[in-house]
Amino acid sequence: MTKETDIHGITDSDCLEAFDHLYSYINGELKDPKALSMIEHHLGHCKSCFTRAEMEKELNQRIKTTGQDRTPDALKNRLDKLLDDI
Ligand SMILES: [Zn+2]
Repeated sequence: MTKETDIHGITDSDCLEAFDHLYSYINGELKDPKALSMIEHHLGHCKSCFTRAEMEKELNQRIKTTGQDRTPDALKNRLDKLLDDI
């Protein structure tokens, strides 16, 4: 964590908690209003988690678009490629 995020009161444990819900949030499967508002608040204040969420969304989108490569290996390759683009 950087000092920049610390001024918003975001801690590492907040990031871990947000990360727990991140995938279901991105997939639209997160229904718990408490968890939803928690993660939205967190993404609004934590740049590293926001960036991560955007990256995962992009990854999801690419997989949906191609409609293939659902194996973990392919997923990993795509993530590696995506990271290379940044
Ligand atoms: Zn975070």
